[in-house]
Amino acid sequence: MDPVTQLLEDVLADVRGEDAGAVADYIPELARADASRLALAVTGPAGGTIAVGDADAEFSIQSISKPFVFALVLDALGRDEVLRHVGVEPSGEPFNAISLEESTGRPANPLINAGAIAVTGLVPGTDLEERSARIVAGLSAFAGRSLTVDEDVYASESATGERNRALAHLLRSYDILHGDPHVSVEAYFRQCATLVTVTDVSVMAGTLAFGGRNPVTGEKVISARTARDVVSLMTSCGMYDGSGSWLLRVGLPAKSGVSGGILALAPSQFGVAVMSPRLDVHGNSTRGRLVLERLSDELGMHVFDQH
Ligand code: GLN
Repeated sequence: MDPVTQLLEDVLADVRGEDAGAVADYIPELARADASRLALAVTGPAGGTIAVGDADAEFSIQSISKPFVFALVLDALGRDEVLRHVGVEPSGEPFNAISLEESTGRPANPLINAGAIAVTGLVPGTDLEERSARIVAGLSAFAGRSLTVDEDVYASESATGERNRALAHLLRSYDILHGDPHVSVEAYFRQCATLVTVTDVSVMAGTLAFGGRNPVTGEKVISARTARDVVSLMTSCGMYDGSGSWLLRVGLPAKSGVSGGILALAPSQFGVAVMSPRLDVHGNSTRGRLVLERLSDELGMHVFDQH
């Protein structure tokens, strides 16, 4: 076995017995996840990916979609226009908080639900179908293959998503969302229900790590400036109210999702993805954090490591 594969296998073996945390169940379909699943993938600059564990297991991307839709909208509309609708400050609050600026209604940042719904509202498209198709096509460009939506997860989130729906209506009341808030929030639910594997997420992370160029397809998906903006945002806000301790312990820009995925990257070096469904109190994968902390230490990848 080559040394990188061996390292990844060793890291997984070390955390496999950890069973802290709980699978998310506020979206009923997510509660059905197999909690024992564990997978890890790393993508290098030439597009080669090494994946270990349950690497073929598909899961819904959930909040890992947020930096990518933010990137697409930034690239299409420009920074100034986007920042009129959403801030870039850590909220210090949970992912589903009603974290809106008092006077303008601008959500704190695009990586919490309120901000992500505002960003999804900026994706062009007159109806749900058109907007959702644009988003899935955009996510697919980052992954380097055609992704699809898990209709059961979408239906489950739509049936129980009153809090997100309330956020969308609040955003509409401030004119942060334009048009029918229903279209934006349903498009957001579909975005979160997009199916991926750790290999997909690792390639997506690689696209952010290598200046917006997908290392597998060679496609320039977003500009290098946009990639830099998104990576900066992930560094301060990617792990919700766990972002500070994440930066201290792991030191890699990252984004988590409530189905147990975590994306991380080392700029210009690699993209990485891990999946394990049990979550901590912040909604971040418990074993996922251990895996990335260990990898960061082993490889000396903390962004503030000093040599
Ligand atoms: N779809 C989920 C929600 O809106 C995403 C949250 C997450 O992954 N943290 O609640």
